[in-house]
Amino acid sequence: MVSKYTLDYAKQLDEKDILKSFREEFYLKPDSIYMDGNSLGLLSKRAERTLLESLEDWKKYGIDGWNQGNHPWFYMAEKLAEKIAQLVGASHEEVIVTGSTTVNLHQLVATFYKPEGIRTKILADELTFPTDIYALQSQLSIHGYDPQTNLIRVKSRDGRFLDEGDIIEAMTDDIALIILPTVLYRSGQILDLKRLTEEAHKRGIMIGFDGCHSIGAIPHLFSEWGVDFAYWCNYKHLNGGPGAVGGLYVNRKHFGTMPGLAGWFGSKKDKQFDMEHTLTQAESAGAYQIGTPHVLSCAPLIGSLDIFLEAGIENIREKSLTINQYLIDLVEFELENMGFFIGTPREDIRRGGHVSLEHKEAARICKALKENGVIPDFRAPNIIRLAPVALYTSYAEVWKVIQILKNIMSEKKYEKFKNEREVIA
Ligand SMILES: *Cc1c(COP(=O)(O)O)cnc(C)c1O
Repeated sequence: MVSKYTLDYAKQLDEKDILKSFREEFYLKPDSIYMDGNSLGLLSKRAERTLLESLEDWKKYGIDGWNQGNHPWFYMAEKLAEKIAQLVGASHEEVIVTGSTTVNLHQLVATFYKPEGIRTKILADELTFPTDIYALQSQLSIHGYDPQTNLIRVKSRDGRFLDEGDIIEAMTDDIALIILPTVLYRSGQILDLKRLTEEAHKRGIMIGFDGCHSIGAIPHLFSEWGVDFAYWCNYKHLNGGPGAVGGLYVNRKHFGTMPGLAGWFGSKKDKQFDMEHTLTQAESAGAYQIGTPHVLSCAPLIGSLDIFLEAGIENIREKSLTINQYLIDLVEFELENMGFFIGTPREDIRRGGHVSLEHKEAARICKALKENGVIPDFRAPNIIRLAPVALYTSYAEVWKVIQILKNIMSEKKYEKFKNEREVIA
């Protein structure tokens, strides 16, 4: 039997990988190993093709591209929603591709945050992504509430993870709305969305989730769990390209709720061009679109999502778990006593699509990794995030990354860099 820690073993795993053919669909740089698909996914040939087809439609049809051509622009957001709905466990009417993570959060809070009596507060957590906090603070201010006292952030016990019990304890009578991540962006912890949704609803509280780090990495059952709403970006695991248009989910029980930030693209499709001054909103998540869609930033998603549907999100999740576990095993075996701490949950059910390695020299280790052909990402102050991606990362690459990292540590190759982050990390 081949030892688990050899390149031969990694190659055997690659041979057996049922998703291995998808790797050829992506533009991989020949001289580097990409471990940053959880920040910006790579371009696939299919995504490139649907973008070029959309440009072609513009070239050929001009204004008529709205209803003609390869991918008519007027229905693009709804067509994309049909595909994404399968990844989030929703009916297609409950999903729309629009806006961006932050804009969609603003829209959903503007729509569903309805302070009343003593219920004025919004519950979030202290580990969440900063843009979510900024958006919530500004929404509270717009409503005339002091964010200092009305934005409650559940504390983490160890700076890495959140305890669902602590979150539930914070669901008090004065909370109007809860906003939490599906997967924490630093530690990769998955929250128990089903349990949190049930507990929120028992207390009459509306709950929504930021799905940036779970969409395309793990399956979701938003409708079955009864989640009120969710929002996410499509440029991370979904490989939609830099600035790809985002997505949102609204549970059908809320259809008809007037959008907080209304615009003409929220109209019922057949009414929109009546140009009336009274909005007849779509009877779907489409109602929460605002203005003209960013067509060219939607177009790559058409091809990219086809890959996800073909590969199957269950298969993607299975490989993601296996390859991330393989990375963890190698770290424990090869990098013992080198000052690394695995800041990611060990249990499959609690782990998203990346591994966080904590190290006090993390910033400059990341720079050394880049110089040695590995693209990681750094999260201040001490996290190296490595994301082996199911569709295009091989086990042999993971093996090589750990060898490179081991060499950087034993030769102290990181010492020539400053232990500071770059402007973009
Ligand atoms: C990437 C990310 C964002 C980014 O928001 P944008 O509006 O797309 O810039 C927001 N929240 C989380 C959790 C993220 O990981």
